Amino acid sequence: MTRRFSSDTLVIGSGLAGLSAAIEASRHGRVALLAKLYPTRCHSSAAQGGIAAALGNEEPDSQEWHFFDTVKGSDYLADQDCVEAMCGDAIKTVVGLERLGVPFSRTEAGKIAQRRFGGHTMEFGRAPVRRACYCADRTGLAIVSALYEQAERCGIEFFPEFHILDIVIEAGDCLGAIALEIKTGELCAFSAKSTIIASGGYGRLYATTSNAIQSTGDLPAILFKKGLPLKDMEFFQFHPTGLYGLGILITEGARGEGGVLVNGRGERFMETYAPHIKDLAPRDMVSRAIIRELRAGRGIGGKDYVHLDLRGIPQKTLGSRLPEIVSFCKIYMGVDPSAAPIPVVPTAHYAMGGIPTDTDGRVLKDERGGVVEGLFAAGECACVSVHGANRLGCNSLLDTVVFGRRAGGAAKGAQGKNIREIPPGAMGPAAETLSTLLERQGGEKTGAIKKDLQILMMDKCSVFRDEEGLSAAAGELEGLRQRSGNIRVMDKGKKFNTEVLEAIELGHMINLAEAVIRSALGRRESRGAHYREDYPERDDNNWLKHTFAFLREGKMTFGYSPVSITKLPPRKREY
Ligand SMILES: Cc1cc2nc3c(=O)[nH]c(=O)nc-3n(C[C@H](O)[C@H](O)[C@H](O)COP(=O)(O)OP(=O)(O)OC[C@H]3O[C@@H](n4cnc5c(N)ncnc54)[C@H](O)[C@@H]3O)c2cc1C
Repeated sequence: MTRRFSSDTLVIGSGLAGLSAAIEASRHGRVALLAKLYPTRCHSSAAQGGIAAALGNEEPDSQEWHFFDTVKGSDYLADQDCVEAMCGDAIKTVVGLERLGVPFSRTEAGKIAQRRFGGHTMEFGRAPVRRACYCADRTGLAIVSALYEQAERCGIEFFPEFHILDIVIEAGDCLGAIALEIKTGELCAFSAKSTIIASGGYGRLYATTSNAIQSTGDLPAILFKKGLPLKDMEFFQFHPTGLYGLGILITEGARGEGGVLVNGRGERFMETYAPHIKDLAPRDMVSRAIIRELRAGRGIGGKDYVHLDLRGIPQKTLGSRLPEIVSFCKIYMGVDPSAAPIPVVPTAHYAMGGIPTDTDGRVLKDERGGVVEGLFAAGECACVSVHGANRLGCNSLLDTVVFGRRAGGAAKGAQGKNIREIPPGAMGPAAETLSTLLERQGGEKTGAIKKDLQILMMDKCSVFRDEEGLSAAAGELEGLRQRSGNIRVMDKGKKFNTEVLEAIELGHMINLAEAVIRSALGRRESRGAHYREDYPERDDNNWLKHTFAFLREGKMTFGYSPVSITKLPPRKREY
């Protein structure tokens, strides 16, 4: 028999977006919060460098400059009304987090300390500014811990290790979700007046990534399969400094504290690519610069990595502000950053695209602004869009808290209605997926197909793209899809059957990869993180618009929506 649960609001995901949404929603009703891992093991806990707010604690700063930098950083694709909402809330948000007990690092005078980060500047681009508020290099964990405590206090009911398999939408109204309890293998129905999706990113599409193993994009893929759109999927950010061979992140805060990138000739090559702000240029530019250096044979010793040199940073600063980074380098690379430079390469980091929403997190069902009743999304899985074609560092933690809270508040609107029971028939598709996978006698292994997918995305759909590579990728993806229809799961048990869940995640990843590849094929220009070598210029006449990808009757189709421009018309992007 199916186990049934009900609450006024159901939140899916325990990262900063989910926790913020749940705390806000608990003001007006009962909240259930569900995650596929233990709540504090969300990827938000891995965030290192900081959260952006123009507090001006270390040097002059303003909300207007933050707005300007975010829009310019986005290569003018961000919706400016949304950016205004985010930057306008930033100071209040960080002060609010401080009051909830987040142990921010401090200045000598006891104020919240701030450091430099890529693309954040003073006086509209004149010079880098200290805007990132941080807790050494464990900012995410510190904020997650504080919000988790608050969520416990608010009486939120936690469902750890419940894996969502489906979202139930009937006649344009979301009734809740179907989850598998990992411990028992039982299917459970969660009914709610409002459902808020906060399921994080999908960096695991790529072979080299900073993202957690759980970042497989399940929920965007589930909605996509139901015919709902995904927005701006062609924009996937590569962070310039992942540990060579591993992809583990070295925060931009390392460059914010004075670290520099150096090529095989010992040159600070960013001086050529971004003469004003150099190593603190936005991530899309720095990642491209690194790959260009490598292609020109200027890697370290002719190899395929460059160096991040932190030796100019005083020992005391390394120890107090970047302790985690120092320990990562020692453990994983055997390098002590105070004595030797760190080998780095760009690593897949952040999905700018995702589930389209309005500024209150309502999920859009089309490019014209129609919404799905009772369904919300926030955080990295969502596309508001505040990051446009390229996100600035420290703006994601801000986005998760600001828009998580807004979604939690807007969910109140659905509270007048009654909770509708999830009909038994709605369990069918999830139950069928499970039984098909468990009964199939095929010969393929999930891990092998996943690896090939990740390599394909890395080779043909990463920092540099072109028509030939993308078309080939679309073809090869079809082959992977067919192979995935032949996966054999060896574990036939119900309890803790993570093998079957991994096969389901792979199905989601294949659908998302197709959305990324085909959206990238469609956009014949270069903007932010989407760089087409066959169309190297930005083309505002034809492409100053958002992409909406739909999966209809097995075919991908596209719609487009205009970019909201309130104050800052597009200009040439120079740093
Ligand atoms: C290493 C690293 C460092 C970063 N550093 C910074 C930084 O310093 N500053 C900054 O602004 N940004 C940073 N980012 C980006 C930022 O951390 C993320 O974008 C943000 O934390 C995402 O938060 P979220 O709440 O949207 O999702 P997440 O924190 O990823 O949480 C997703 C939740 O959804 C759950 N979930 C997913 N699928 C399912 C399913 N099928 N069923 C049930 N539950 C599910 C997961 O278990 C998890 O609880 C960093 C990212 C990485 C990877």
